[in-house]
Amino acid sequence: MSDDILIKARDLSVHYPLSGGKLFGPKPVVKACEGVNLDIAKGSFFGLVGESGSGKTTLGRACLKAAPITRGTVRYKDEDVSYDLTQIDKEQLTDYRKRSQLIFQDPYAALSPRMTVRDIIAEPLEVMGLTSSREETDERVREIAAKCRLNLEHLRRFPHAFSGGQRQRISIARALVSRPHFVVADESVAALDVSIQADVLNLLKEIQAEMGLTFLFISHDLSVVAHVCDHVAVMYLGRLVESAPTRELFAAPRHPYTKALLSAIPSLDPDAPKTAQKLEGEIPSPTNPPPGCKFQTRCPNAIDICRVDEPKLEHSSTGHEVACHRWQDLMD
Ligand code: ADP
Ligand code: MG
Repeated sequence: MSDDILIKARDLSVHYPLSGGKLFGPKPVVKACEGVNLDIAKGSFFGLVGESGSGKTTLGRACLKAAPITRGTVRYKDEDVSYDLTQIDKEQLTDYRKRSQLIFQDPYAALSPRMTVRDIIAEPLEVMGLTSSREETDERVREIAAKCRLNLEHLRRFPHAFSGGQRQRISIARALVSRPHFVVADESVAALDVSIQADVLNLLKEIQAEMGLTFLFISHDLSVVAHVCDHVAVMYLGRLVESAPTRELFAAPRHPYTKALLSAIPSLDPDAPKTAQKLEGEIPSPTNPPPGCKFQTRCPNAIDICRVDEPKLEHSSTGHEVACHRWQDLMD
């Protein structure tokens, strides 16, 4: 079973130091990511959701060895190699950069305005030295461009000539041209119009299946995640609070935070009962999180134990994990 896991994080923590604070005593830190255990199965489209500031980008970047890991481990394992990202040497890191990629959020900022689309997509191949001739590079560029529904005419143009959806397809082609195994897509459709989001999501899903890629798909929007992901993990204030196969998470959510996020999605059925609770108040500051369960300050079900004791993510044989003292009491 464990051989099917591409990314395995254990007790993964990323703390950012804050400037200021007292001269003596502990320095203040932001616990952007704290004690996270995460298994991303090979070939899965794995969703990570949570409000802005919950630590999703930090966790995604830590899995790419692009955020400083304060404590814990991340292991990457495919058919050929196995790396502990906290122990990885320079040569292995160069190799890992070829096996992993990030698709950026903002297709406007990510593309150099002075390069043609062909050169933008070809650049990673040249930087990583993955091809040995211009013909080979062109061949690879054309192949991935076609997968991303860009034609030869598009390749000769500059990014400003394209719409938001097209630019995002260019970013995707650029990220995938090196044939990575693991892709982190961070809010990859958030900047797009709703009507174009579905197109880009379907494209990502299609390419992922065709190329056998593993995706970590980050979004603040649970309805976007529902559309494409086969497994979803929910993050709150640096912690994973629930993780389950998508269908299971939507049919039988266990954490009060997940239930609140779900209740915020407008229902297509006007007769659907409005039983779930609304999410009140602001997410607390990660520099000064509350004691006990991090969600207790906003949780309608919090009792004494929740205010002192932080619940751990409980494993289960069905793959549905939850970190809540009361989830069993709250089942209806
Ligand atoms: P999300 O992607 O869910 O919005 P982030 O991972 O971007 O969350 O941020 C989590 C927390 O960590 C936030 O409070 C953010 O301000 C803080 N943070 C993120 N990156 C840094 C950094 N480089 N230095 C200091 N604090 C950071
Ligand atoms: Mg983010």
